[in-house]
Amino acid sequence: MKITRFALALLLSYAASAVALPKHAPVPGGVAVIDLGPASQTTPTARWGEQPIAVVRDKGHWFALFGIPLDTLPGDFEISVFSGLTVATRQISVHIRNYPEQRLTIKDKRKVEPNPDDPARIEREQKITEAIKRHFSGPPPATDFALPAKGPLSSRFGLRRIFNGLPRNPHAGLDVAVGTGAPVIAPADGIVANVGDYFFNGNTVFLDHGQGLITAYMHLSRTDVRAGQTVKKGETLGAVGATGRVTGPHLHWAVILNNTPVDPELFLSRP
Ligand SMILES: [Zn+2]
Repeated sequence: MKITRFALALLLSYAASAVALPKHAPVPGGVAVIDLGPASQTTPTARWGEQPIAVVRDKGHWFALFGIPLDTLPGDFEISVFSGLTVATRQISVHIRNYPEQRLTIKDKRKVEPNPDDPARIEREQKITEAIKRHFSGPPPATDFALPAKGPLSSRFGLRRIFNGLPRNPHAGLDVAVGTGAPVIAPADGIVANVGDYFFNGNTVFLDHGQGLITAYMHLSRTDVRAGQTVKKGETLGAVGATGRVTGPHLHWAVILNNTPVDPELFLSRP
């Protein structure tokens, strides 16, 4: 009986410490889940250049969660790991991944070839969003995400995009095909980092989940939250719309790790 109770307690503590890590995908636009050793050691920290990397505890081990930039060439990639007074270099072997091409026609031509006075606005907005994406706060993030809108997945992450025949940045998020007005919910607990109306992204909400894990909800018709507000998993952030550079109403969902957009599908629970 004692053994059974002990086993149960062990199982419960094991479950409580599990955070459901993202899927390990060492490809451009993927996430490298790097085992940093037993959790009995001092909490390690990790860096990619100046950018801190998320370190979470799962099943008695520390893991670094590193977002691999989409423009990374296959081969070895290095991050630094600091534990107590020691510094070590960890190699990540990045594999090739060929993302398909997607050709789109945008009726609002200004969103593809902006007016002469638009670049100033675009540049101003990029500065704001860059600061949000770089931000690194202390608490470890929840990484077991719920899909933020109910609907089929349409454009997947990483598509090489051609707008009106002109090559543009790759698709740095996941699209959910849902109509205007459908609710958009928080996939995990977080703090609202920013709410704004952006040239390309339309009405947008940014959530900070901790340690550089940031998510964004774009093209919204309505926003229901304010910057600084704490939100719980499942709470409504706003409603789907067609604001910004779009072909029609849908949710564009971006997941950013260490200032790098990564495939949101890696964070969704799998059956
Ligand atoms: Zn999109």
